[in-house]
Amino acid sequence: MSHFLKAAQLIDGTGHAPLRDPLVEIAGGRILSVRQGPAPEGAKVQEFPGGTILPGLIETHSHLNLPGNGLTLEEAMREGPEVMLATAMGNAATALRAGITTIRDLGAFGTTSISARRAIELGYAEGARIMACGQPITITGGHTWYMGGEADGEDGLRLKVRQMIKDGADFIKVMGSGGGTLGTMAWRPAYSLPEMQAIVGESHRNGRMVTVHCLCAEAIDIAITAGVDQIEHAGFITGPGTQSYDPAVADRLAASGIPVTSTLAVCGTILNALRALESPRPDQVAFLDRWVKTLAMNMDHGRKLREAGVRFVAGTDAGWRYTSFDSLVQELELLEQIGMSRGEAIHAATGFAAEAIHLDGRGTLAEGMAADILVSPGDPLADLDALRDLSLILKDGVSVMPAGRAAMNPVAASCPA
Ligand SMILES: [Zn+2]
Repeated sequence: MSHFLKAAQLIDGTGHAPLRDPLVEIAGGRILSVRQGPAPEGAKVQEFPGGTILPGLIETHSHLNLPGNGLTLEEAMREGPEVMLATAMGNAATALRAGITTIRDLGAFGTTSISARRAIELGYAEGARIMACGQPITITGGHTWYMGGEADGEDGLRLKVRQMIKDGADFIKVMGSGGGTLGTMAWRPAYSLPEMQAIVGESHRNGRMVTVHCLCAEAIDIAITAGVDQIEHAGFITGPGTQSYDPAVADRLAASGIPVTSTLAVCGTILNALRALESPRPDQVAFLDRWVKTLAMNMDHGRKLREAGVRFVAGTDAGWRYTSFDSLVQELELLEQIGMSRGEAIHAATGFAAEAIHLDGRGTLAEGMAADILVSPGDPLADLDALRDLSLILKDGVSVMPAGRAAMNPVAASCPA
């Protein structure tokens, strides 16, 4: 038995102009048709006058093990794998209730993200559908090594890729430079070009895409040459606390067509959290000052990369520091601030995100696609904030209770000591 959704407009996730007066027919968790006009006589119809129908959002960069409440990676990783799995389940539920029907995990401890994916697939727990890489592959002592992904040398990396696939990885994540883990160097590439080529060759031979965390220009350059499928962050860090945009590498990145995950909100949520403190200590003020500067640089580089022709998909780095699992709307607002239209920002979290992460059958609303559908009572093309207020969330056609505006993007009260 099919049922229908009616609203004022429909954003189909392809980046095209909205469809006025849409009628969406759903049955068995799939979309049977998207058309205009009235529903058939006697049909079961849910009407949302003035509302907008759009695809469920896709969060392309998260770490489901991490609480996103201000803890550092080192602090969060002191918990055992059972706590990490429970944390992942809670985060997947938070994401779904914020309208994120698919969430991609970009690195977790052991097999915890893969187990979380399984429990949700089986229907034993409610949560966003998970795409998981298992452990992020990293050099010995490299960024996030605590998660168990250390591997070095061409043979060692081929073996590690095979192990991740054996564990059930949907795709392969590589730490191509250092990052926020203590003792790593974000301004230096982690792997040599032959090592990166070994990872890409072995992954592609097994039908898995590769995405690479890159915080410096040289790492981006190696990733492009090795033929990776996606780049995370695309930062231009040159040393502790310094960045310098590299136009030649940016042009190469644009020409490659490799999509980049934006992760702007990871700094934005830190600012929100620290600004919410009533009487911050001097060290907290210094910390805030540092992140104000970092966000400003990241926004400037994001704007320049976009102007150079680089295509962004939306991802927040949820879990990292203060980035909660309902922060994706903030990411879209920051993408608007670097020059995207609101329609383009929504495309970056729906159809284009699905294309970039090789998520088939989802991300757009059309006949035969999964019924991952949101309805906002407002118009997100007029104000992206309308995405914080959802009247309906369907995942595979099954209705989920929205979190509600008041619960969205909570600002963490805690702060690093
Ligand atoms: Zn990350």
